[in-house]
Amino acid sequence: MTRRLVIVSNRIPTEAEPAGGLIVALHECLTEIGGLWVGCAPDPVDVPTPGLTQIGEAAYRRATFDITPLEHEGFYLGYANSVLWPLFHRRLDLISVDGRHAEAYLAVNARVARLLADELAPDDLLWVHDYHFLPLAYELRRLGVTNRIGFFLHTPFPMSADLPALPQSDVFPDWMAAFDLVGLQTERDVAALLEMFRSDPEAEILLNGKLRRRGAEFQAMSFPIGINADEFGAQADLAGPDDPLALPAGEKLLIGVDRLDYSKGLVNRFEAFGAYLDRRDDGDPRATFLQIAPPSRGDLEAYRDIRAELESASGRLNGTHAALDWIPIQYICRPVPRGQVAGLLRRADVGLVTPLADGMNLVAKEYVAAQDPGDPGVLILSHFAGASEQMTQALCVNPYDIDEMADAIRQALSMPLRERKDRHAALLAGVRERGITWWTQNYLARLTGPDAPDDARPSLARAV
Ligand code: ADP
Repeated sequence: MTRRLVIVSNRIPTEAEPAGGLIVALHECLTEIGGLWVGCAPDPVDVPTPGLTQIGEAAYRRATFDITPLEHEGFYLGYANSVLWPLFHRRLDLISVDGRHAEAYLAVNARVARLLADELAPDDLLWVHDYHFLPLAYELRRLGVTNRIGFFLHTPFPMSADLPALPQSDVFPDWMAAFDLVGLQTERDVAALLEMFRSDPEAEILLNGKLRRRGAEFQAMSFPIGINADEFGAQADLAGPDDPLALPAGEKLLIGVDRLDYSKGLVNRFEAFGAYLDRRDDGDPRATFLQIAPPSRGDLEAYRDIRAELESASGRLNGTHAALDWIPIQYICRPVPRGQVAGLLRRADVGLVTPLADGMNLVAKEYVAAQDPGDPGVLILSHFAGASEQMTQALCVNPYDIDEMADAIRQALSMPLRERKDRHAALLAGVRERGITWWTQNYLARLTGPDAPDDARPSLARAV
């Protein structure tokens, strides 16, 4: 008999056919094998419904739990996004510690654990996503739940040396050890986790590669997340040859597509483009840089600050370099439909993906998938994006080194076609080989357990 899959994530698709890479992949997975998806209701309410609320129509069940405005402030804005997010992205200076926020985070996790415990059948597989639910398995174990529980962290894993900045650093290892499988984006994240347990006197690393701590045994592995490259490439094809920016023929385009977040290295990227413009020779082609970065988490000061910084950086650069018929930096501060993003990525001669820290960065993979293989653009990729572990044929840069990035822009804009094609072919092969279906299949096969009989594994035949 096929085992039921139960997914928990903060965001949940609220329409029958959701948009967006990961959400689509998990949606397809659940549509194939059936199961339940539990997530947070999009709007906080003063009086939460005590149980789960069924939403939408789909081939599987979807249900939300409510949180109050105070819990939204503590669980989501306060602890998840003002402690965990900056800590996991190595911005300890942006951490804001408040005991009430930690209480709300722990209380929401304990409540979700109780709701799940009521729902779970003995054989269900539970797959928990991301930093909003670090203590969920720990809470479930306290309630006596013995199901296999997997976790996937979409962000980088924190460095051991940074962990004392987490007010709950003493229980963080217990949270991890309560899962059966901890999935991370890269090998360097696995190394960071092992480092944390290596210095833990209560933990041991077993010969079979698993870890044991206070009697709990679990495994940590990397599962680099991917995209559906063919589907994204088809969207870029559909966008057609028309240039929505109507740039003059021969003018080069550089593009950045990001959520507005301090981890994305946008100010450094703007400065690097400015340094490139400063050093440009008269013979160099004119190049415009389009940055799409809609605001996210605008309720938090750190996000308002980064927006103001970027607006001032783009104003400064345009003030210095603009001509009557040319605005060097076009900065779009709102979301752009996915099909249009695909078309713009296709049109761009250079993709700038230069985060200061990033779990994976799917835009790097989307840029490669969107290119015309006969005349592809060049990807400039930060060492600190998880994607750089796989995408070694990109021009890899240090996002803290403005001059190096400016040189990479120049190198990319003058790269011969042969080299562009070789680099792109190798990158595309990798993006295709390890796509989103590879990711869900491999994770779930490992979560089910390598010794489980085939009929005990979730069947992903259609998704293959
Ligand atoms: P993160 O999860 O930190 O936002 P990723 O690069 O891993 O970063 O994933 C972002 C996803 O959101 C990608 O699929 C990307 O195409 C999409 N995206 C990011 N910024 C925009 C934007 N400005 N407009 C439309 N889609 C965007």
